[in-house]
Amino acid sequence: MCVSVAEADLGAVAARLAGLHGADLVEVRLDALAPPVRLETARLVALVAGSPVPIGFTLRPAWEGGGYLGDEPARRRQLEAAAASGAAFIDVELDAEWAAELVDSSPCPVIVSHHFDRPMPDDLDRRVEEMLRLRPSLAKLVAPSERPADAVPLLAAARRLIESGQPASGFCMGEAGRASRLLAIIQGAGIVYAAAEVGGEVAPGQWPLVELTERLRVRGWPRDAGLCGLIGHPIGHSLSPAIYNAVFQERGRGLAYLPLPGAQLAPVMDLVEAVGFIGLSVTMPFKEQMAARCAELDALAATTGAVNTVVARPGGGWAGFNTDGVAVVEALAARRQIGGAAIAIVGAGGAGRAAAVALAAAGGEVTVLNRTVARAEEVAELARCAAGPIDTLRERRFDVVINATPVGMRAAGDGNRAGAEAGKGGGVAGAGRRGGGPGDAGRGDEGGAAIAGPTASTPFPSDWLSGSEVVFDMVYRPRITPLLAAADARGCATIEGLEMFVRQAAVQYGLLTGDPSDQPLVSLRAAAERALDEDGGASR
Ligand code: NAP
Repeated sequence: MCVSVAEADLGAVAARLAGLHGADLVEVRLDALAPPVRLETARLVALVAGSPVPIGFTLRPAWEGGGYLGDEPARRRQLEAAAASGAAFIDVELDAEWAAELVDSSPCPVIVSHHFDRPMPDDLDRRVEEMLRLRPSLAKLVAPSERPADAVPLLAAARRLIESGQPASGFCMGEAGRASRLLAIIQGAGIVYAAAEVGGEVAPGQWPLVELTERLRVRGWPRDAGLCGLIGHPIGHSLSPAIYNAVFQERGRGLAYLPLPGAQLAPVMDLVEAVGFIGLSVTMPFKEQMAARCAELDALAATTGAVNTVVARPGGGWAGFNTDGVAVVEALAARRQIGGAAIAIVGAGGAGRAAAVALAAAGGEVTVLNRTVARAEEVAELARCAAGPIDTLRERRFDVVINATPVGMRAAGDGNRAGAEAGKGGGVAGAGRRGGGPGDAGRGDEGGAAIAGPTASTPFPSDWLSGSEVVFDMVYRPRITPLLAAADARGCATIEGLEMFVRQAAVQYGLLTGDPSDQPLVSLRAAAERALDEDGGASR
């Protein structure tokens, strides 16, 4: 795990080094120093000696995309001074005329790098051969990317090097290359470059160190692990990577779970299919599109036309599942009988639809209530149940009220603002209207998406509750939503969205591992609670 530091003077570099922890190595980008740069050995020795983490040096010339504008003999002298300073490594370009001489003479390990200037370069094989002749301490191959699958040939080239005993790292830069940096880890990259902190990327597409080590737990990823992933947009705040990686490792499953960012489904799936993922969690907005790509669907996915889990079939293609329905049923059944219960579901999106179909099939008397009534009616036809506007709740008593809208979800990075507004009640946000508006939380993922704009209040005024209902909120960030807090204050029994989240995850876990009987609910709940606590998602 190597963190890159780029500062304009060595004093600032030293200050940054003092604050770093968690990395195995630091790469100091000497080409980021403000000119004129004179690297005296004594200063570099002091920098190396004073660093809490082993440091290496890069002095990337402009002709390879770096910031160094001086001549090559001076650059070589400066790299030699850096190599003599006790550095953990120096980094030199494959195209530097004296690269081979430095590899032979350097007192410290030498990384030899090559940065291609376009995606899918046609001289990849030649560069691999050159690296194999040079045999540096590490061969680094980097290319820009336009689409996630652009990384496939580069990853294959790095694998060839690694399998022939040459330590190597090969990955793509840019947003489209993010997943390739994770795939490089799985295939045994010698070095993984990370940003020191969120927003501190030195190269486009770098993952923050804390994300790699704590959320994705990449240090525990087995070499050539089976690949599972998450597709959706946005997925930045999803709990799934943290909980699946934690539990896969706890149970020695030999799997890794990768967030696969991308706003379009097809380019992400090109990568997924090229490198052979065994299963995916699917979140908004791909649930329907992904269902349409599946060769087979389970009953709920077929009825709702939406999947939240897909698994690669042995003969090719994907099998699609919707684990939200069983999760709602189990979470509610743990609290009260469903057969004969009058259940109001507020919201007619993907989650409301799955809940309506599953609860009606389980014997509940379901009524779907939605801001856009026509959408509630569509769901009612599917689930063979009743439909109406949200203010039905004012006149009619239900045994169970379920919130399947994102209202009450905390905005990303927003502390517990929604929780703080608990009990204020609220309005039927824009009844009869589609789309935005000040109370609109936007589209959610499986509960973990970054949501733009403020969210607050409840999907309906809490004084419409009599106090005898079971109130179930699918939103789990914060755990105690304004609706749950208000319902509790009125004497209602409450069910947190986390109860549904961990149950859908448990069924999904069984599907991803290919062992449907293994549904580690307790471990998943513990991991989800930890992840929510870490990001301030719990409100108690
Ligand atoms: P979706 O498909 O985007 O549907 C959103 C629904 O909420 C629509 O019915 C929409 O009404 C309604 N809505 C949005 N903003 C509203 C507002 N301001 N006032 C009233 N109604 C509003 O989303 P989804 O996938 O169904 O997810 C819904 C929520 O459930 C999200 O918060 C999601 O995170 C959560 N969820 C949780 C779990 C879990 O495991 N706990 C699983 C799945 C989903 P219109 O039709 O009028 O636009």
